[in-house]
Amino acid sequence: MRKPLIAGNWKMNHNQLATRAWCRRFRDIAREDGRPPAADVELAIAPPFTSIPAFLAETGEEEISTGAQNLHQESSGAFTGELSAGMLVELPVDFVILGHSERRHVFGESDERISLKVAAARENQLLPYLCVGETEDERDSGRMEPTIEKQLQAGLSRISLGSADDLVIAYEPVWAIGTGRTATREQAQEAHGFLREILASICSSEIARGVRILYGGSVKANNAGDLAAMPDVDGFLVGGASLDAGSFLSIARAWSGND
Ligand code: PEP
Repeated sequence: MRKPLIAGNWKMNHNQLATRAWCRRFRDIAREDGRPPAADVELAIAPPFTSIPAFLAETGEEEISTGAQNLHQESSGAFTGELSAGMLVELPVDFVILGHSERRHVFGESDERISLKVAAARENQLLPYLCVGETEDERDSGRMEPTIEKQLQAGLSRISLGSADDLVIAYEPVWAIGTGRTATREQAQEAHGFLREILASICSSEIARGVRILYGGSVKANNAGDLAAMPDVDGFLVGGASLDAGSFLSIARAWSGND
């Protein structure tokens, strides 16, 4: 049974002050509602690096995991401005987002580099959230499947999965990220089902059945319930709507149809 996971990616938003305000609001909503923030889903947030200590300090008592948005594949060295997996573990964080479309398309990260980062995360017991997704051109020219298959194969090429808990996959069509255009639930299911098949061929059917595959791309409380109904959609990776604690929690609650 895959436990639904609702993860927020704050990108380069929320300094320490805003992070503390987000956490206070998160706690207040839970208190006002008189119920845990998310009883039957797992919650996770990836703040910017410099806000991680503030987030950890504020959420110590909450059941919400903390992640990073990137790492460098080497453990140390002359890599100005970079952070290693070992440094992130020291903070500590639980997971790291890798292969996000902004890293691929804005910062030019190749599948090869992403595979090295995934390996570095695993070597340091950090859970990789491996993001894959096609551009609009790739979809329009019928290349959605080969694109995400290649990204998945390459991303996992340097690791072997001991269990389904060693990996989270996020399917994030590039044309849906930050655009307000969400994939239909049929489009999401098609891609997720396909990724699970590829995963089974890479590792085993048992592991593939247990790995959570999140959908990302303009998820909001008003479309979350619809997407959540699909059998291979196991949660969301949320950008813009995670910046507000209220809308993030509404998405989590929409999952269970109880908002
Ligand atoms: C993202 O950046 O991973 C994302 C899904 O963003 P948004 O929810 O804003 O589309």
